[in-house]
Amino acid sequence: MSNVVGRLAPTPSGHLHLGNALAFGAAWLSARSVGGRLLLRFEDVDRGRARPEVEAGQRADLAWLGIDWDEEVSPQRDRDYRPWLQALAPTVYRCACTRARVAAEGFRADGGCPGGCRDTPRVGGRVRFRISPGEVVISDRRFGTNRVDPARLGDPVLQREDGTFSYTLAVVADDLQDGVSEVVRGADLLEQVAVQSQVWSAFGATPPTWLHVPLVLGEDGKKLSKSHGSTELRALRAAGWSATEVWRVVLPWLGLSGADSLSSALASWQDRGPVDAVVAPSTAPGG
Ligand code: GLU
Repeated sequence: MSNVVGRLAPTPSGHLHLGNALAFGAAWLSARSVGGRLLLRFEDVDRGRARPEVEAGQRADLAWLGIDWDEEVSPQRDRDYRPWLQALAPTVYRCACTRARVAAEGFRADGGCPGGCRDTPRVGGRVRFRISPGEVVISDRRFGTNRVDPARLGDPVLQREDGTFSYTLAVVADDLQDGVSEVVRGADLLEQVAVQSQVWSAFGATPPTWLHVPLVLGEDGKKLSKSHGSTELRALRAAGWSATEVWRVVLPWLGLSGADSLSSALASWQDRGPVDAVVAPSTAPGG
């Protein structure tokens, strides 16, 4: 048993699709290939979007794919993020800018909100994390070295005006609390490493290793979402696909050709592999 701890972190707002099979398959392979532990954590911090029936469907999809885990840790709905926000007090500020204003004017060059709330004490509003501007060197186990200035992404919200907490705070607090040592997920979150690693540092902790896998696009060239219902695993299953057929499509996207199950791909798994976005088929193989 190694000290590696990975995690599967589904958001129960939409059904799992081929992109999730790719990311979760990679997380499974990465942890299992070194005898590490794998956790399951439902990311339902955005309570308004989470749906219990979707969570149940995601469990069924994971079982169908043959993805198992060692321990299910508390879902975000059962966690208290107030102490975590408190611990970040020196690096946060209250922001009164509306979402529309931020969308219209963008962030300042240093990442601060357009209204200059970083420098103006305010009561109420949302809580933002004050990022340190300047290029951050992101080291990814698959994508290699990337330079990202987090100021371009802007100071992230940690707590919304209604008191609810954001993904950025929750994901870092959870990974830290759960002892996660490696984060394996889709490339749409690659740039977020620049922000999330600063939040890790603000907690006085060392970030995990990062491994991002190719983004999976729909036939319209857009990132898979609810509008690509035919690439959902439950839709593929209903259309007659087997889990083996899913893996025959997905594993080559990781550079693992010739395998038709996760366990058969285990011996050939390596961190480095393709990084280009791929397009999901929406019809059964040969169909
Ligand atoms: N919960 C996110 C998702 O379902 C993943 C977040 C992460 O891995 O950091 O896409």
